[in-house]
Amino acid sequence: MITACPSCKSIELEILVNMGHQPMSHYTKETEEKKELIIKRCKKCSMIFNSSPIIGDFEEEYKFLSSTSTLIKNEAKKQSKEIIEHYIKIEKKFPKVLIEIASNDGYLLEEIKIKSPNTRLVGVDPSKLAFKIANKKGINQFQGYFNMENLDRIKDICGDKPDIIVANNVITHVPNLIEFFKTLSIMIGDHTKTCIRFQSTEQLLKQCHHECFYHENYNFPLVVNIEEIANKNGMEVYDGKKIEYHGGSIELWLKRKKAESTIISKEYQNIRKESQNTINNIENITSTFKKKKEKSIKAIEMFLMKAQAKGQKVGGYAAPQKAVTVLNSIKSENNNIKWIGDISKDKQGTFIAGTSIRIISLDDLINKKMDIIVVFAWNLYDEIKECLVSRGIDNKKIYNIKDIESMEL
Ligand SMILES: [Zn+2]
Repeated sequence: MITACPSCKSIELEILVNMGHQPMSHYTKETEEKKELIIKRCKKCSMIFNSSPIIGDFEEEYKFLSSTSTLIKNEAKKQSKEIIEHYIKIEKKFPKVLIEIASNDGYLLEEIKIKSPNTRLVGVDPSKLAFKIANKKGINQFQGYFNMENLDRIKDICGDKPDIIVANNVITHVPNLIEFFKTLSIMIGDHTKTCIRFQSTEQLLKQCHHECFYHENYNFPLVVNIEEIANKNGMEVYDGKKIEYHGGSIELWLKRKKAESTIISKEYQNIRKESQNTINNIENITSTFKKKKEKSIKAIEMFLMKAQAKGQKVGGYAAPQKAVTVLNSIKSENNNIKWIGDISKDKQGTFIAGTSIRIISLDDLINKKMDIIVVFAWNLYDEIKECLVSRGIDNKKIYNIKDIESMEL
């Protein structure tokens, strides 16, 4: 149990939401042990965090491969171009060394290679599966976490201070956020530009993305929290923007404090304002969040019960971690879903952790002739719907889990 704020260390905390008993969401057995998942908020700095995390084994068990999603691949094409352009705009030259933290199967580094062929690229990722695939693609990757313990080994691989560090969707999963920023601050030089992307906690609260809370997600910082942690570790944010990705994400650019900077965009100023407004109205925002969360789960249960009463077979498509949270939040007697399709071969044949729902291939799901297919990966809804329709599934049978959640009871 974490008893102090991961950012400011205050012990004045309050429960934002109790998600009930949840398994580790990237595990794959029906019998997985469950543990109460309690999300708290620091009353002093408003940082939101998982107070009862189970420290996951990302080396052996992490099965998610970014390249399996067209949306992620397209976003990588766009981001790689933007990263190189951002660097050139400030430094007037191509970067020599770029590190990506949590490089997964190398999907972003491959794109950066195309945009900047002479840049030395280094990936850092703990997952053995992702490492194996990245290696096959010829990507220089360090298998391990980005932390103090591994810092010297990572530095050796880079050979030089990196010009760019990219960390997409990492800070949520970092067990010790302060150590992460400390490691970053040692890694960077005066000219290093660090780009971090993470799901917007401001949007998570306002849009009630309760399913994004799971044991492996530790930190849900607001933009102002990141600014504070960066500042305490000799860094500062100098640019940023919103990204319509993952239900609303934030991109921030950081540099060493006092190092020259040229950008403070209007968009970044707006993000800061929004983050400050969130803090100013946090009581209202969190109380609305709690009510919406309860209503969402009831709406899903009602939807499944109605389908059962009509004798309709309900299946699901895509088994991301957020599906695990949702399916473990529903009372099991109301859950009549038996199968969920997923493109990942590593997931097929396994279970949605903590449930008896089996993960199968799309072909198998089609053969089961479902009356309703619920799309759990709502952030990939359009892509998934298009894919299902192209395989002959009637448009009207496909439901976005987010639309079900907002149905009137
Ligand atoms: Zn705090």
